[in-house]
Amino acid sequence: MLGSANADLVVAVERRPAGGETVLGGDTVVMPGGKGANTAVAAGRLGCDVALVGAVGADQYGSLLRESLVSAGVRVESVRTSDRPTGIAYITVTPDGENSIVVAPGANSDVSASDVDALSWDGVSVLVCSLEVPLSTVEHAVAVAAGHGVRCVLNLSPVTAVSPEALALLDPLIVNEHEALALADSFEGLLALGPRSAVVTLGGRGAAVVTPEGVVEVPAPAVDVVDTTGAGDAFAGALAFGLSRGDSLVQAARFATRVAATSVTRAGAQPSYPRADEVLA
Ligand code: ADP
Repeated sequence: MLGSANADLVVAVERRPAGGETVLGGDTVVMPGGKGANTAVAAGRLGCDVALVGAVGADQYGSLLRESLVSAGVRVESVRTSDRPTGIAYITVTPDGENSIVVAPGANSDVSASDVDALSWDGVSVLVCSLEVPLSTVEHAVAVAAGHGVRCVLNLSPVTAVSPEALALLDPLIVNEHEALALADSFEGLLALGPRSAVVTLGGRGAAVVTPEGVVEVPAPAVDVVDTTGAGDAFAGALAFGLSRGDSLVQAARFATRVAATSVTRAGAQPSYPRADEVLA
């Protein structure tokens, strides 16, 4: 797993401050987050042998993130300690449930091609990349991994202009429905961008698996939704785990929809991710 690790600092406010204004909020809640760390934790908690490639700062948030990763069984030998501070997402939540987020990428901006070049690929079957780390690093990682025969998956959130060379190596490209429609007129149209396959997550409707053979819809189990934060990252981590143990793409997507649906029945991102024995049938 290559991607970001952020501390999420969450504060509840009655309303957002305007420019030059101060409003009082509730107590700060600090949670481990970032798309890369979330995805790695989702896979690790399911029992997958997974490592995160990324960077945190030499500060309390870096320690928090390392602890969260390690307790989910994620290997952290490739999480470098940067001179820059740990990435932080400053999140304000209003009573209507809407979030406003400022991300300070910090150490995540520092994840570079040399971090990728330091990796050993022995025994690695799948690389999952997410953004929030430099795009050039992601593109380099995909090229290097593919050169070692490793299957490459990219969660393209937010939509970003990735090189055609990198897109052509993806199997699959993962996007949510909103991102898919920003990229193409139809789900089938995603393959015209170059990936060998694509998976579109559809929220409560599950996911669509797109291959040259056609589109297969995979429904999500009906659940009582508590909090959808990090559901897409849970999906990506579970999909990669499925692929790494030899599932077909459709089988892996079925498993990932069940894992992500389980995660939305619980609060938070990383704390909501299930162990294998907790995944909804
Ligand atoms: P993102 O959070 O990245 O926008 P989605 O909203 O598509 O992604 O959700 C990702 C996955 O989480 C879905 O494919 C599904 O498995 C699960 N999920 C999300 N919302 C629900 C829901 N209301 N009921 C059941 N599963 C859900």
